[in-house]
Amino acid sequence: MKRPNILLTGTPGVGKTTLGKEIALRTDFTYINVGDMAKEGELYEGFDEEYECPILDEDRVIDEMEDKMKDGGVIVDYHSCDFFPERWFNIVFVLRTENSFLYNRLENRGYKGKKLQDNIQCEIFQTIYEEAMSSYKEEIVHQLPSNTPEDMERNLDQIMQWVEQWIKDNN
Ligand code: ADP
Ligand code: MG
Repeated sequence: MKRPNILLTGTPGVGKTTLGKEIALRTDFTYINVGDMAKEGELYEGFDEEYECPILDEDRVIDEMEDKMKDGGVIVDYHSCDFFPERWFNIVFVLRTENSFLYNRLENRGYKGKKLQDNIQCEIFQTIYEEAMSSYKEEIVHQLPSNTPEDMERNLDQIMQWVEQWIKDNN
């Protein structure tokens, strides 16, 4: 049975990991957290002093993921999306969160100063949405509001319905 690959992207704190793990619980899909995968395999090529984070070795990340992506049925979670091969994904969801909610979530995560401000700006300027729209066919890119637990339930229902329909249409 053919199954779709789903990309969950958006600014840190919008709820990708929470939603991705929940989809994995309700399906037999494989969940890949690209940040965790890179950390485990030390798939880095340096450290960004300004943003206080390691720089991903994108080529090695892609090599590591390629085989899994071929089989379908993968949920990928990452806060950036322009370096993945376009052909990998059947649908792209960009989670979106209003500032006040996002600010609290990032503060709770221990972000402060420039890192906190930069991430809030990233969301205000819809940087990741634009990145997704320029990296994938516009018709497969969808924004999902992710402000409240009700939003999360609605998003889950919507994604589960979409997955069922995709499987019917493609098998
Ligand atoms: P990301 O993986 O995008 O960085 P997380 O899934 O880690 O985001 O979520 C960040 C925080 O926000 C967590 O504490 C999570 O419980 C909370 N959260 C995520 N989605 C929602 C939502 N739709 N409504 C309320 N809180 C949420
Ligand atoms: Mg996460």
